[in-house]
Amino acid sequence: MAVPRNRMSNARKNSKRAHHAKKPKSMSTCPNCSNPKLPHVLCPSCGAYNMRIVVQQ
Ligand SMILES: [Zn+2]
Repeated sequence: MAVPRNRMSNARKNSKRAHHAKKPKSMSTCPNCSNPKLPHVLCPSCGAYNMRIVVQQ
């Protein structure tokens, strides 16, 4: 198992983690009901995917 040779300083550790911030989720709008939804996912408000009702509510 690989073992780190030297202890990483707090500044190096923190600067390494400077790029680890979460990005906001990308949202698209439903073409059927124009509510926000996740891309490539069935619309949670009307149950449509690709202009077709898949799940009846
Ligand atoms: Zn919809």
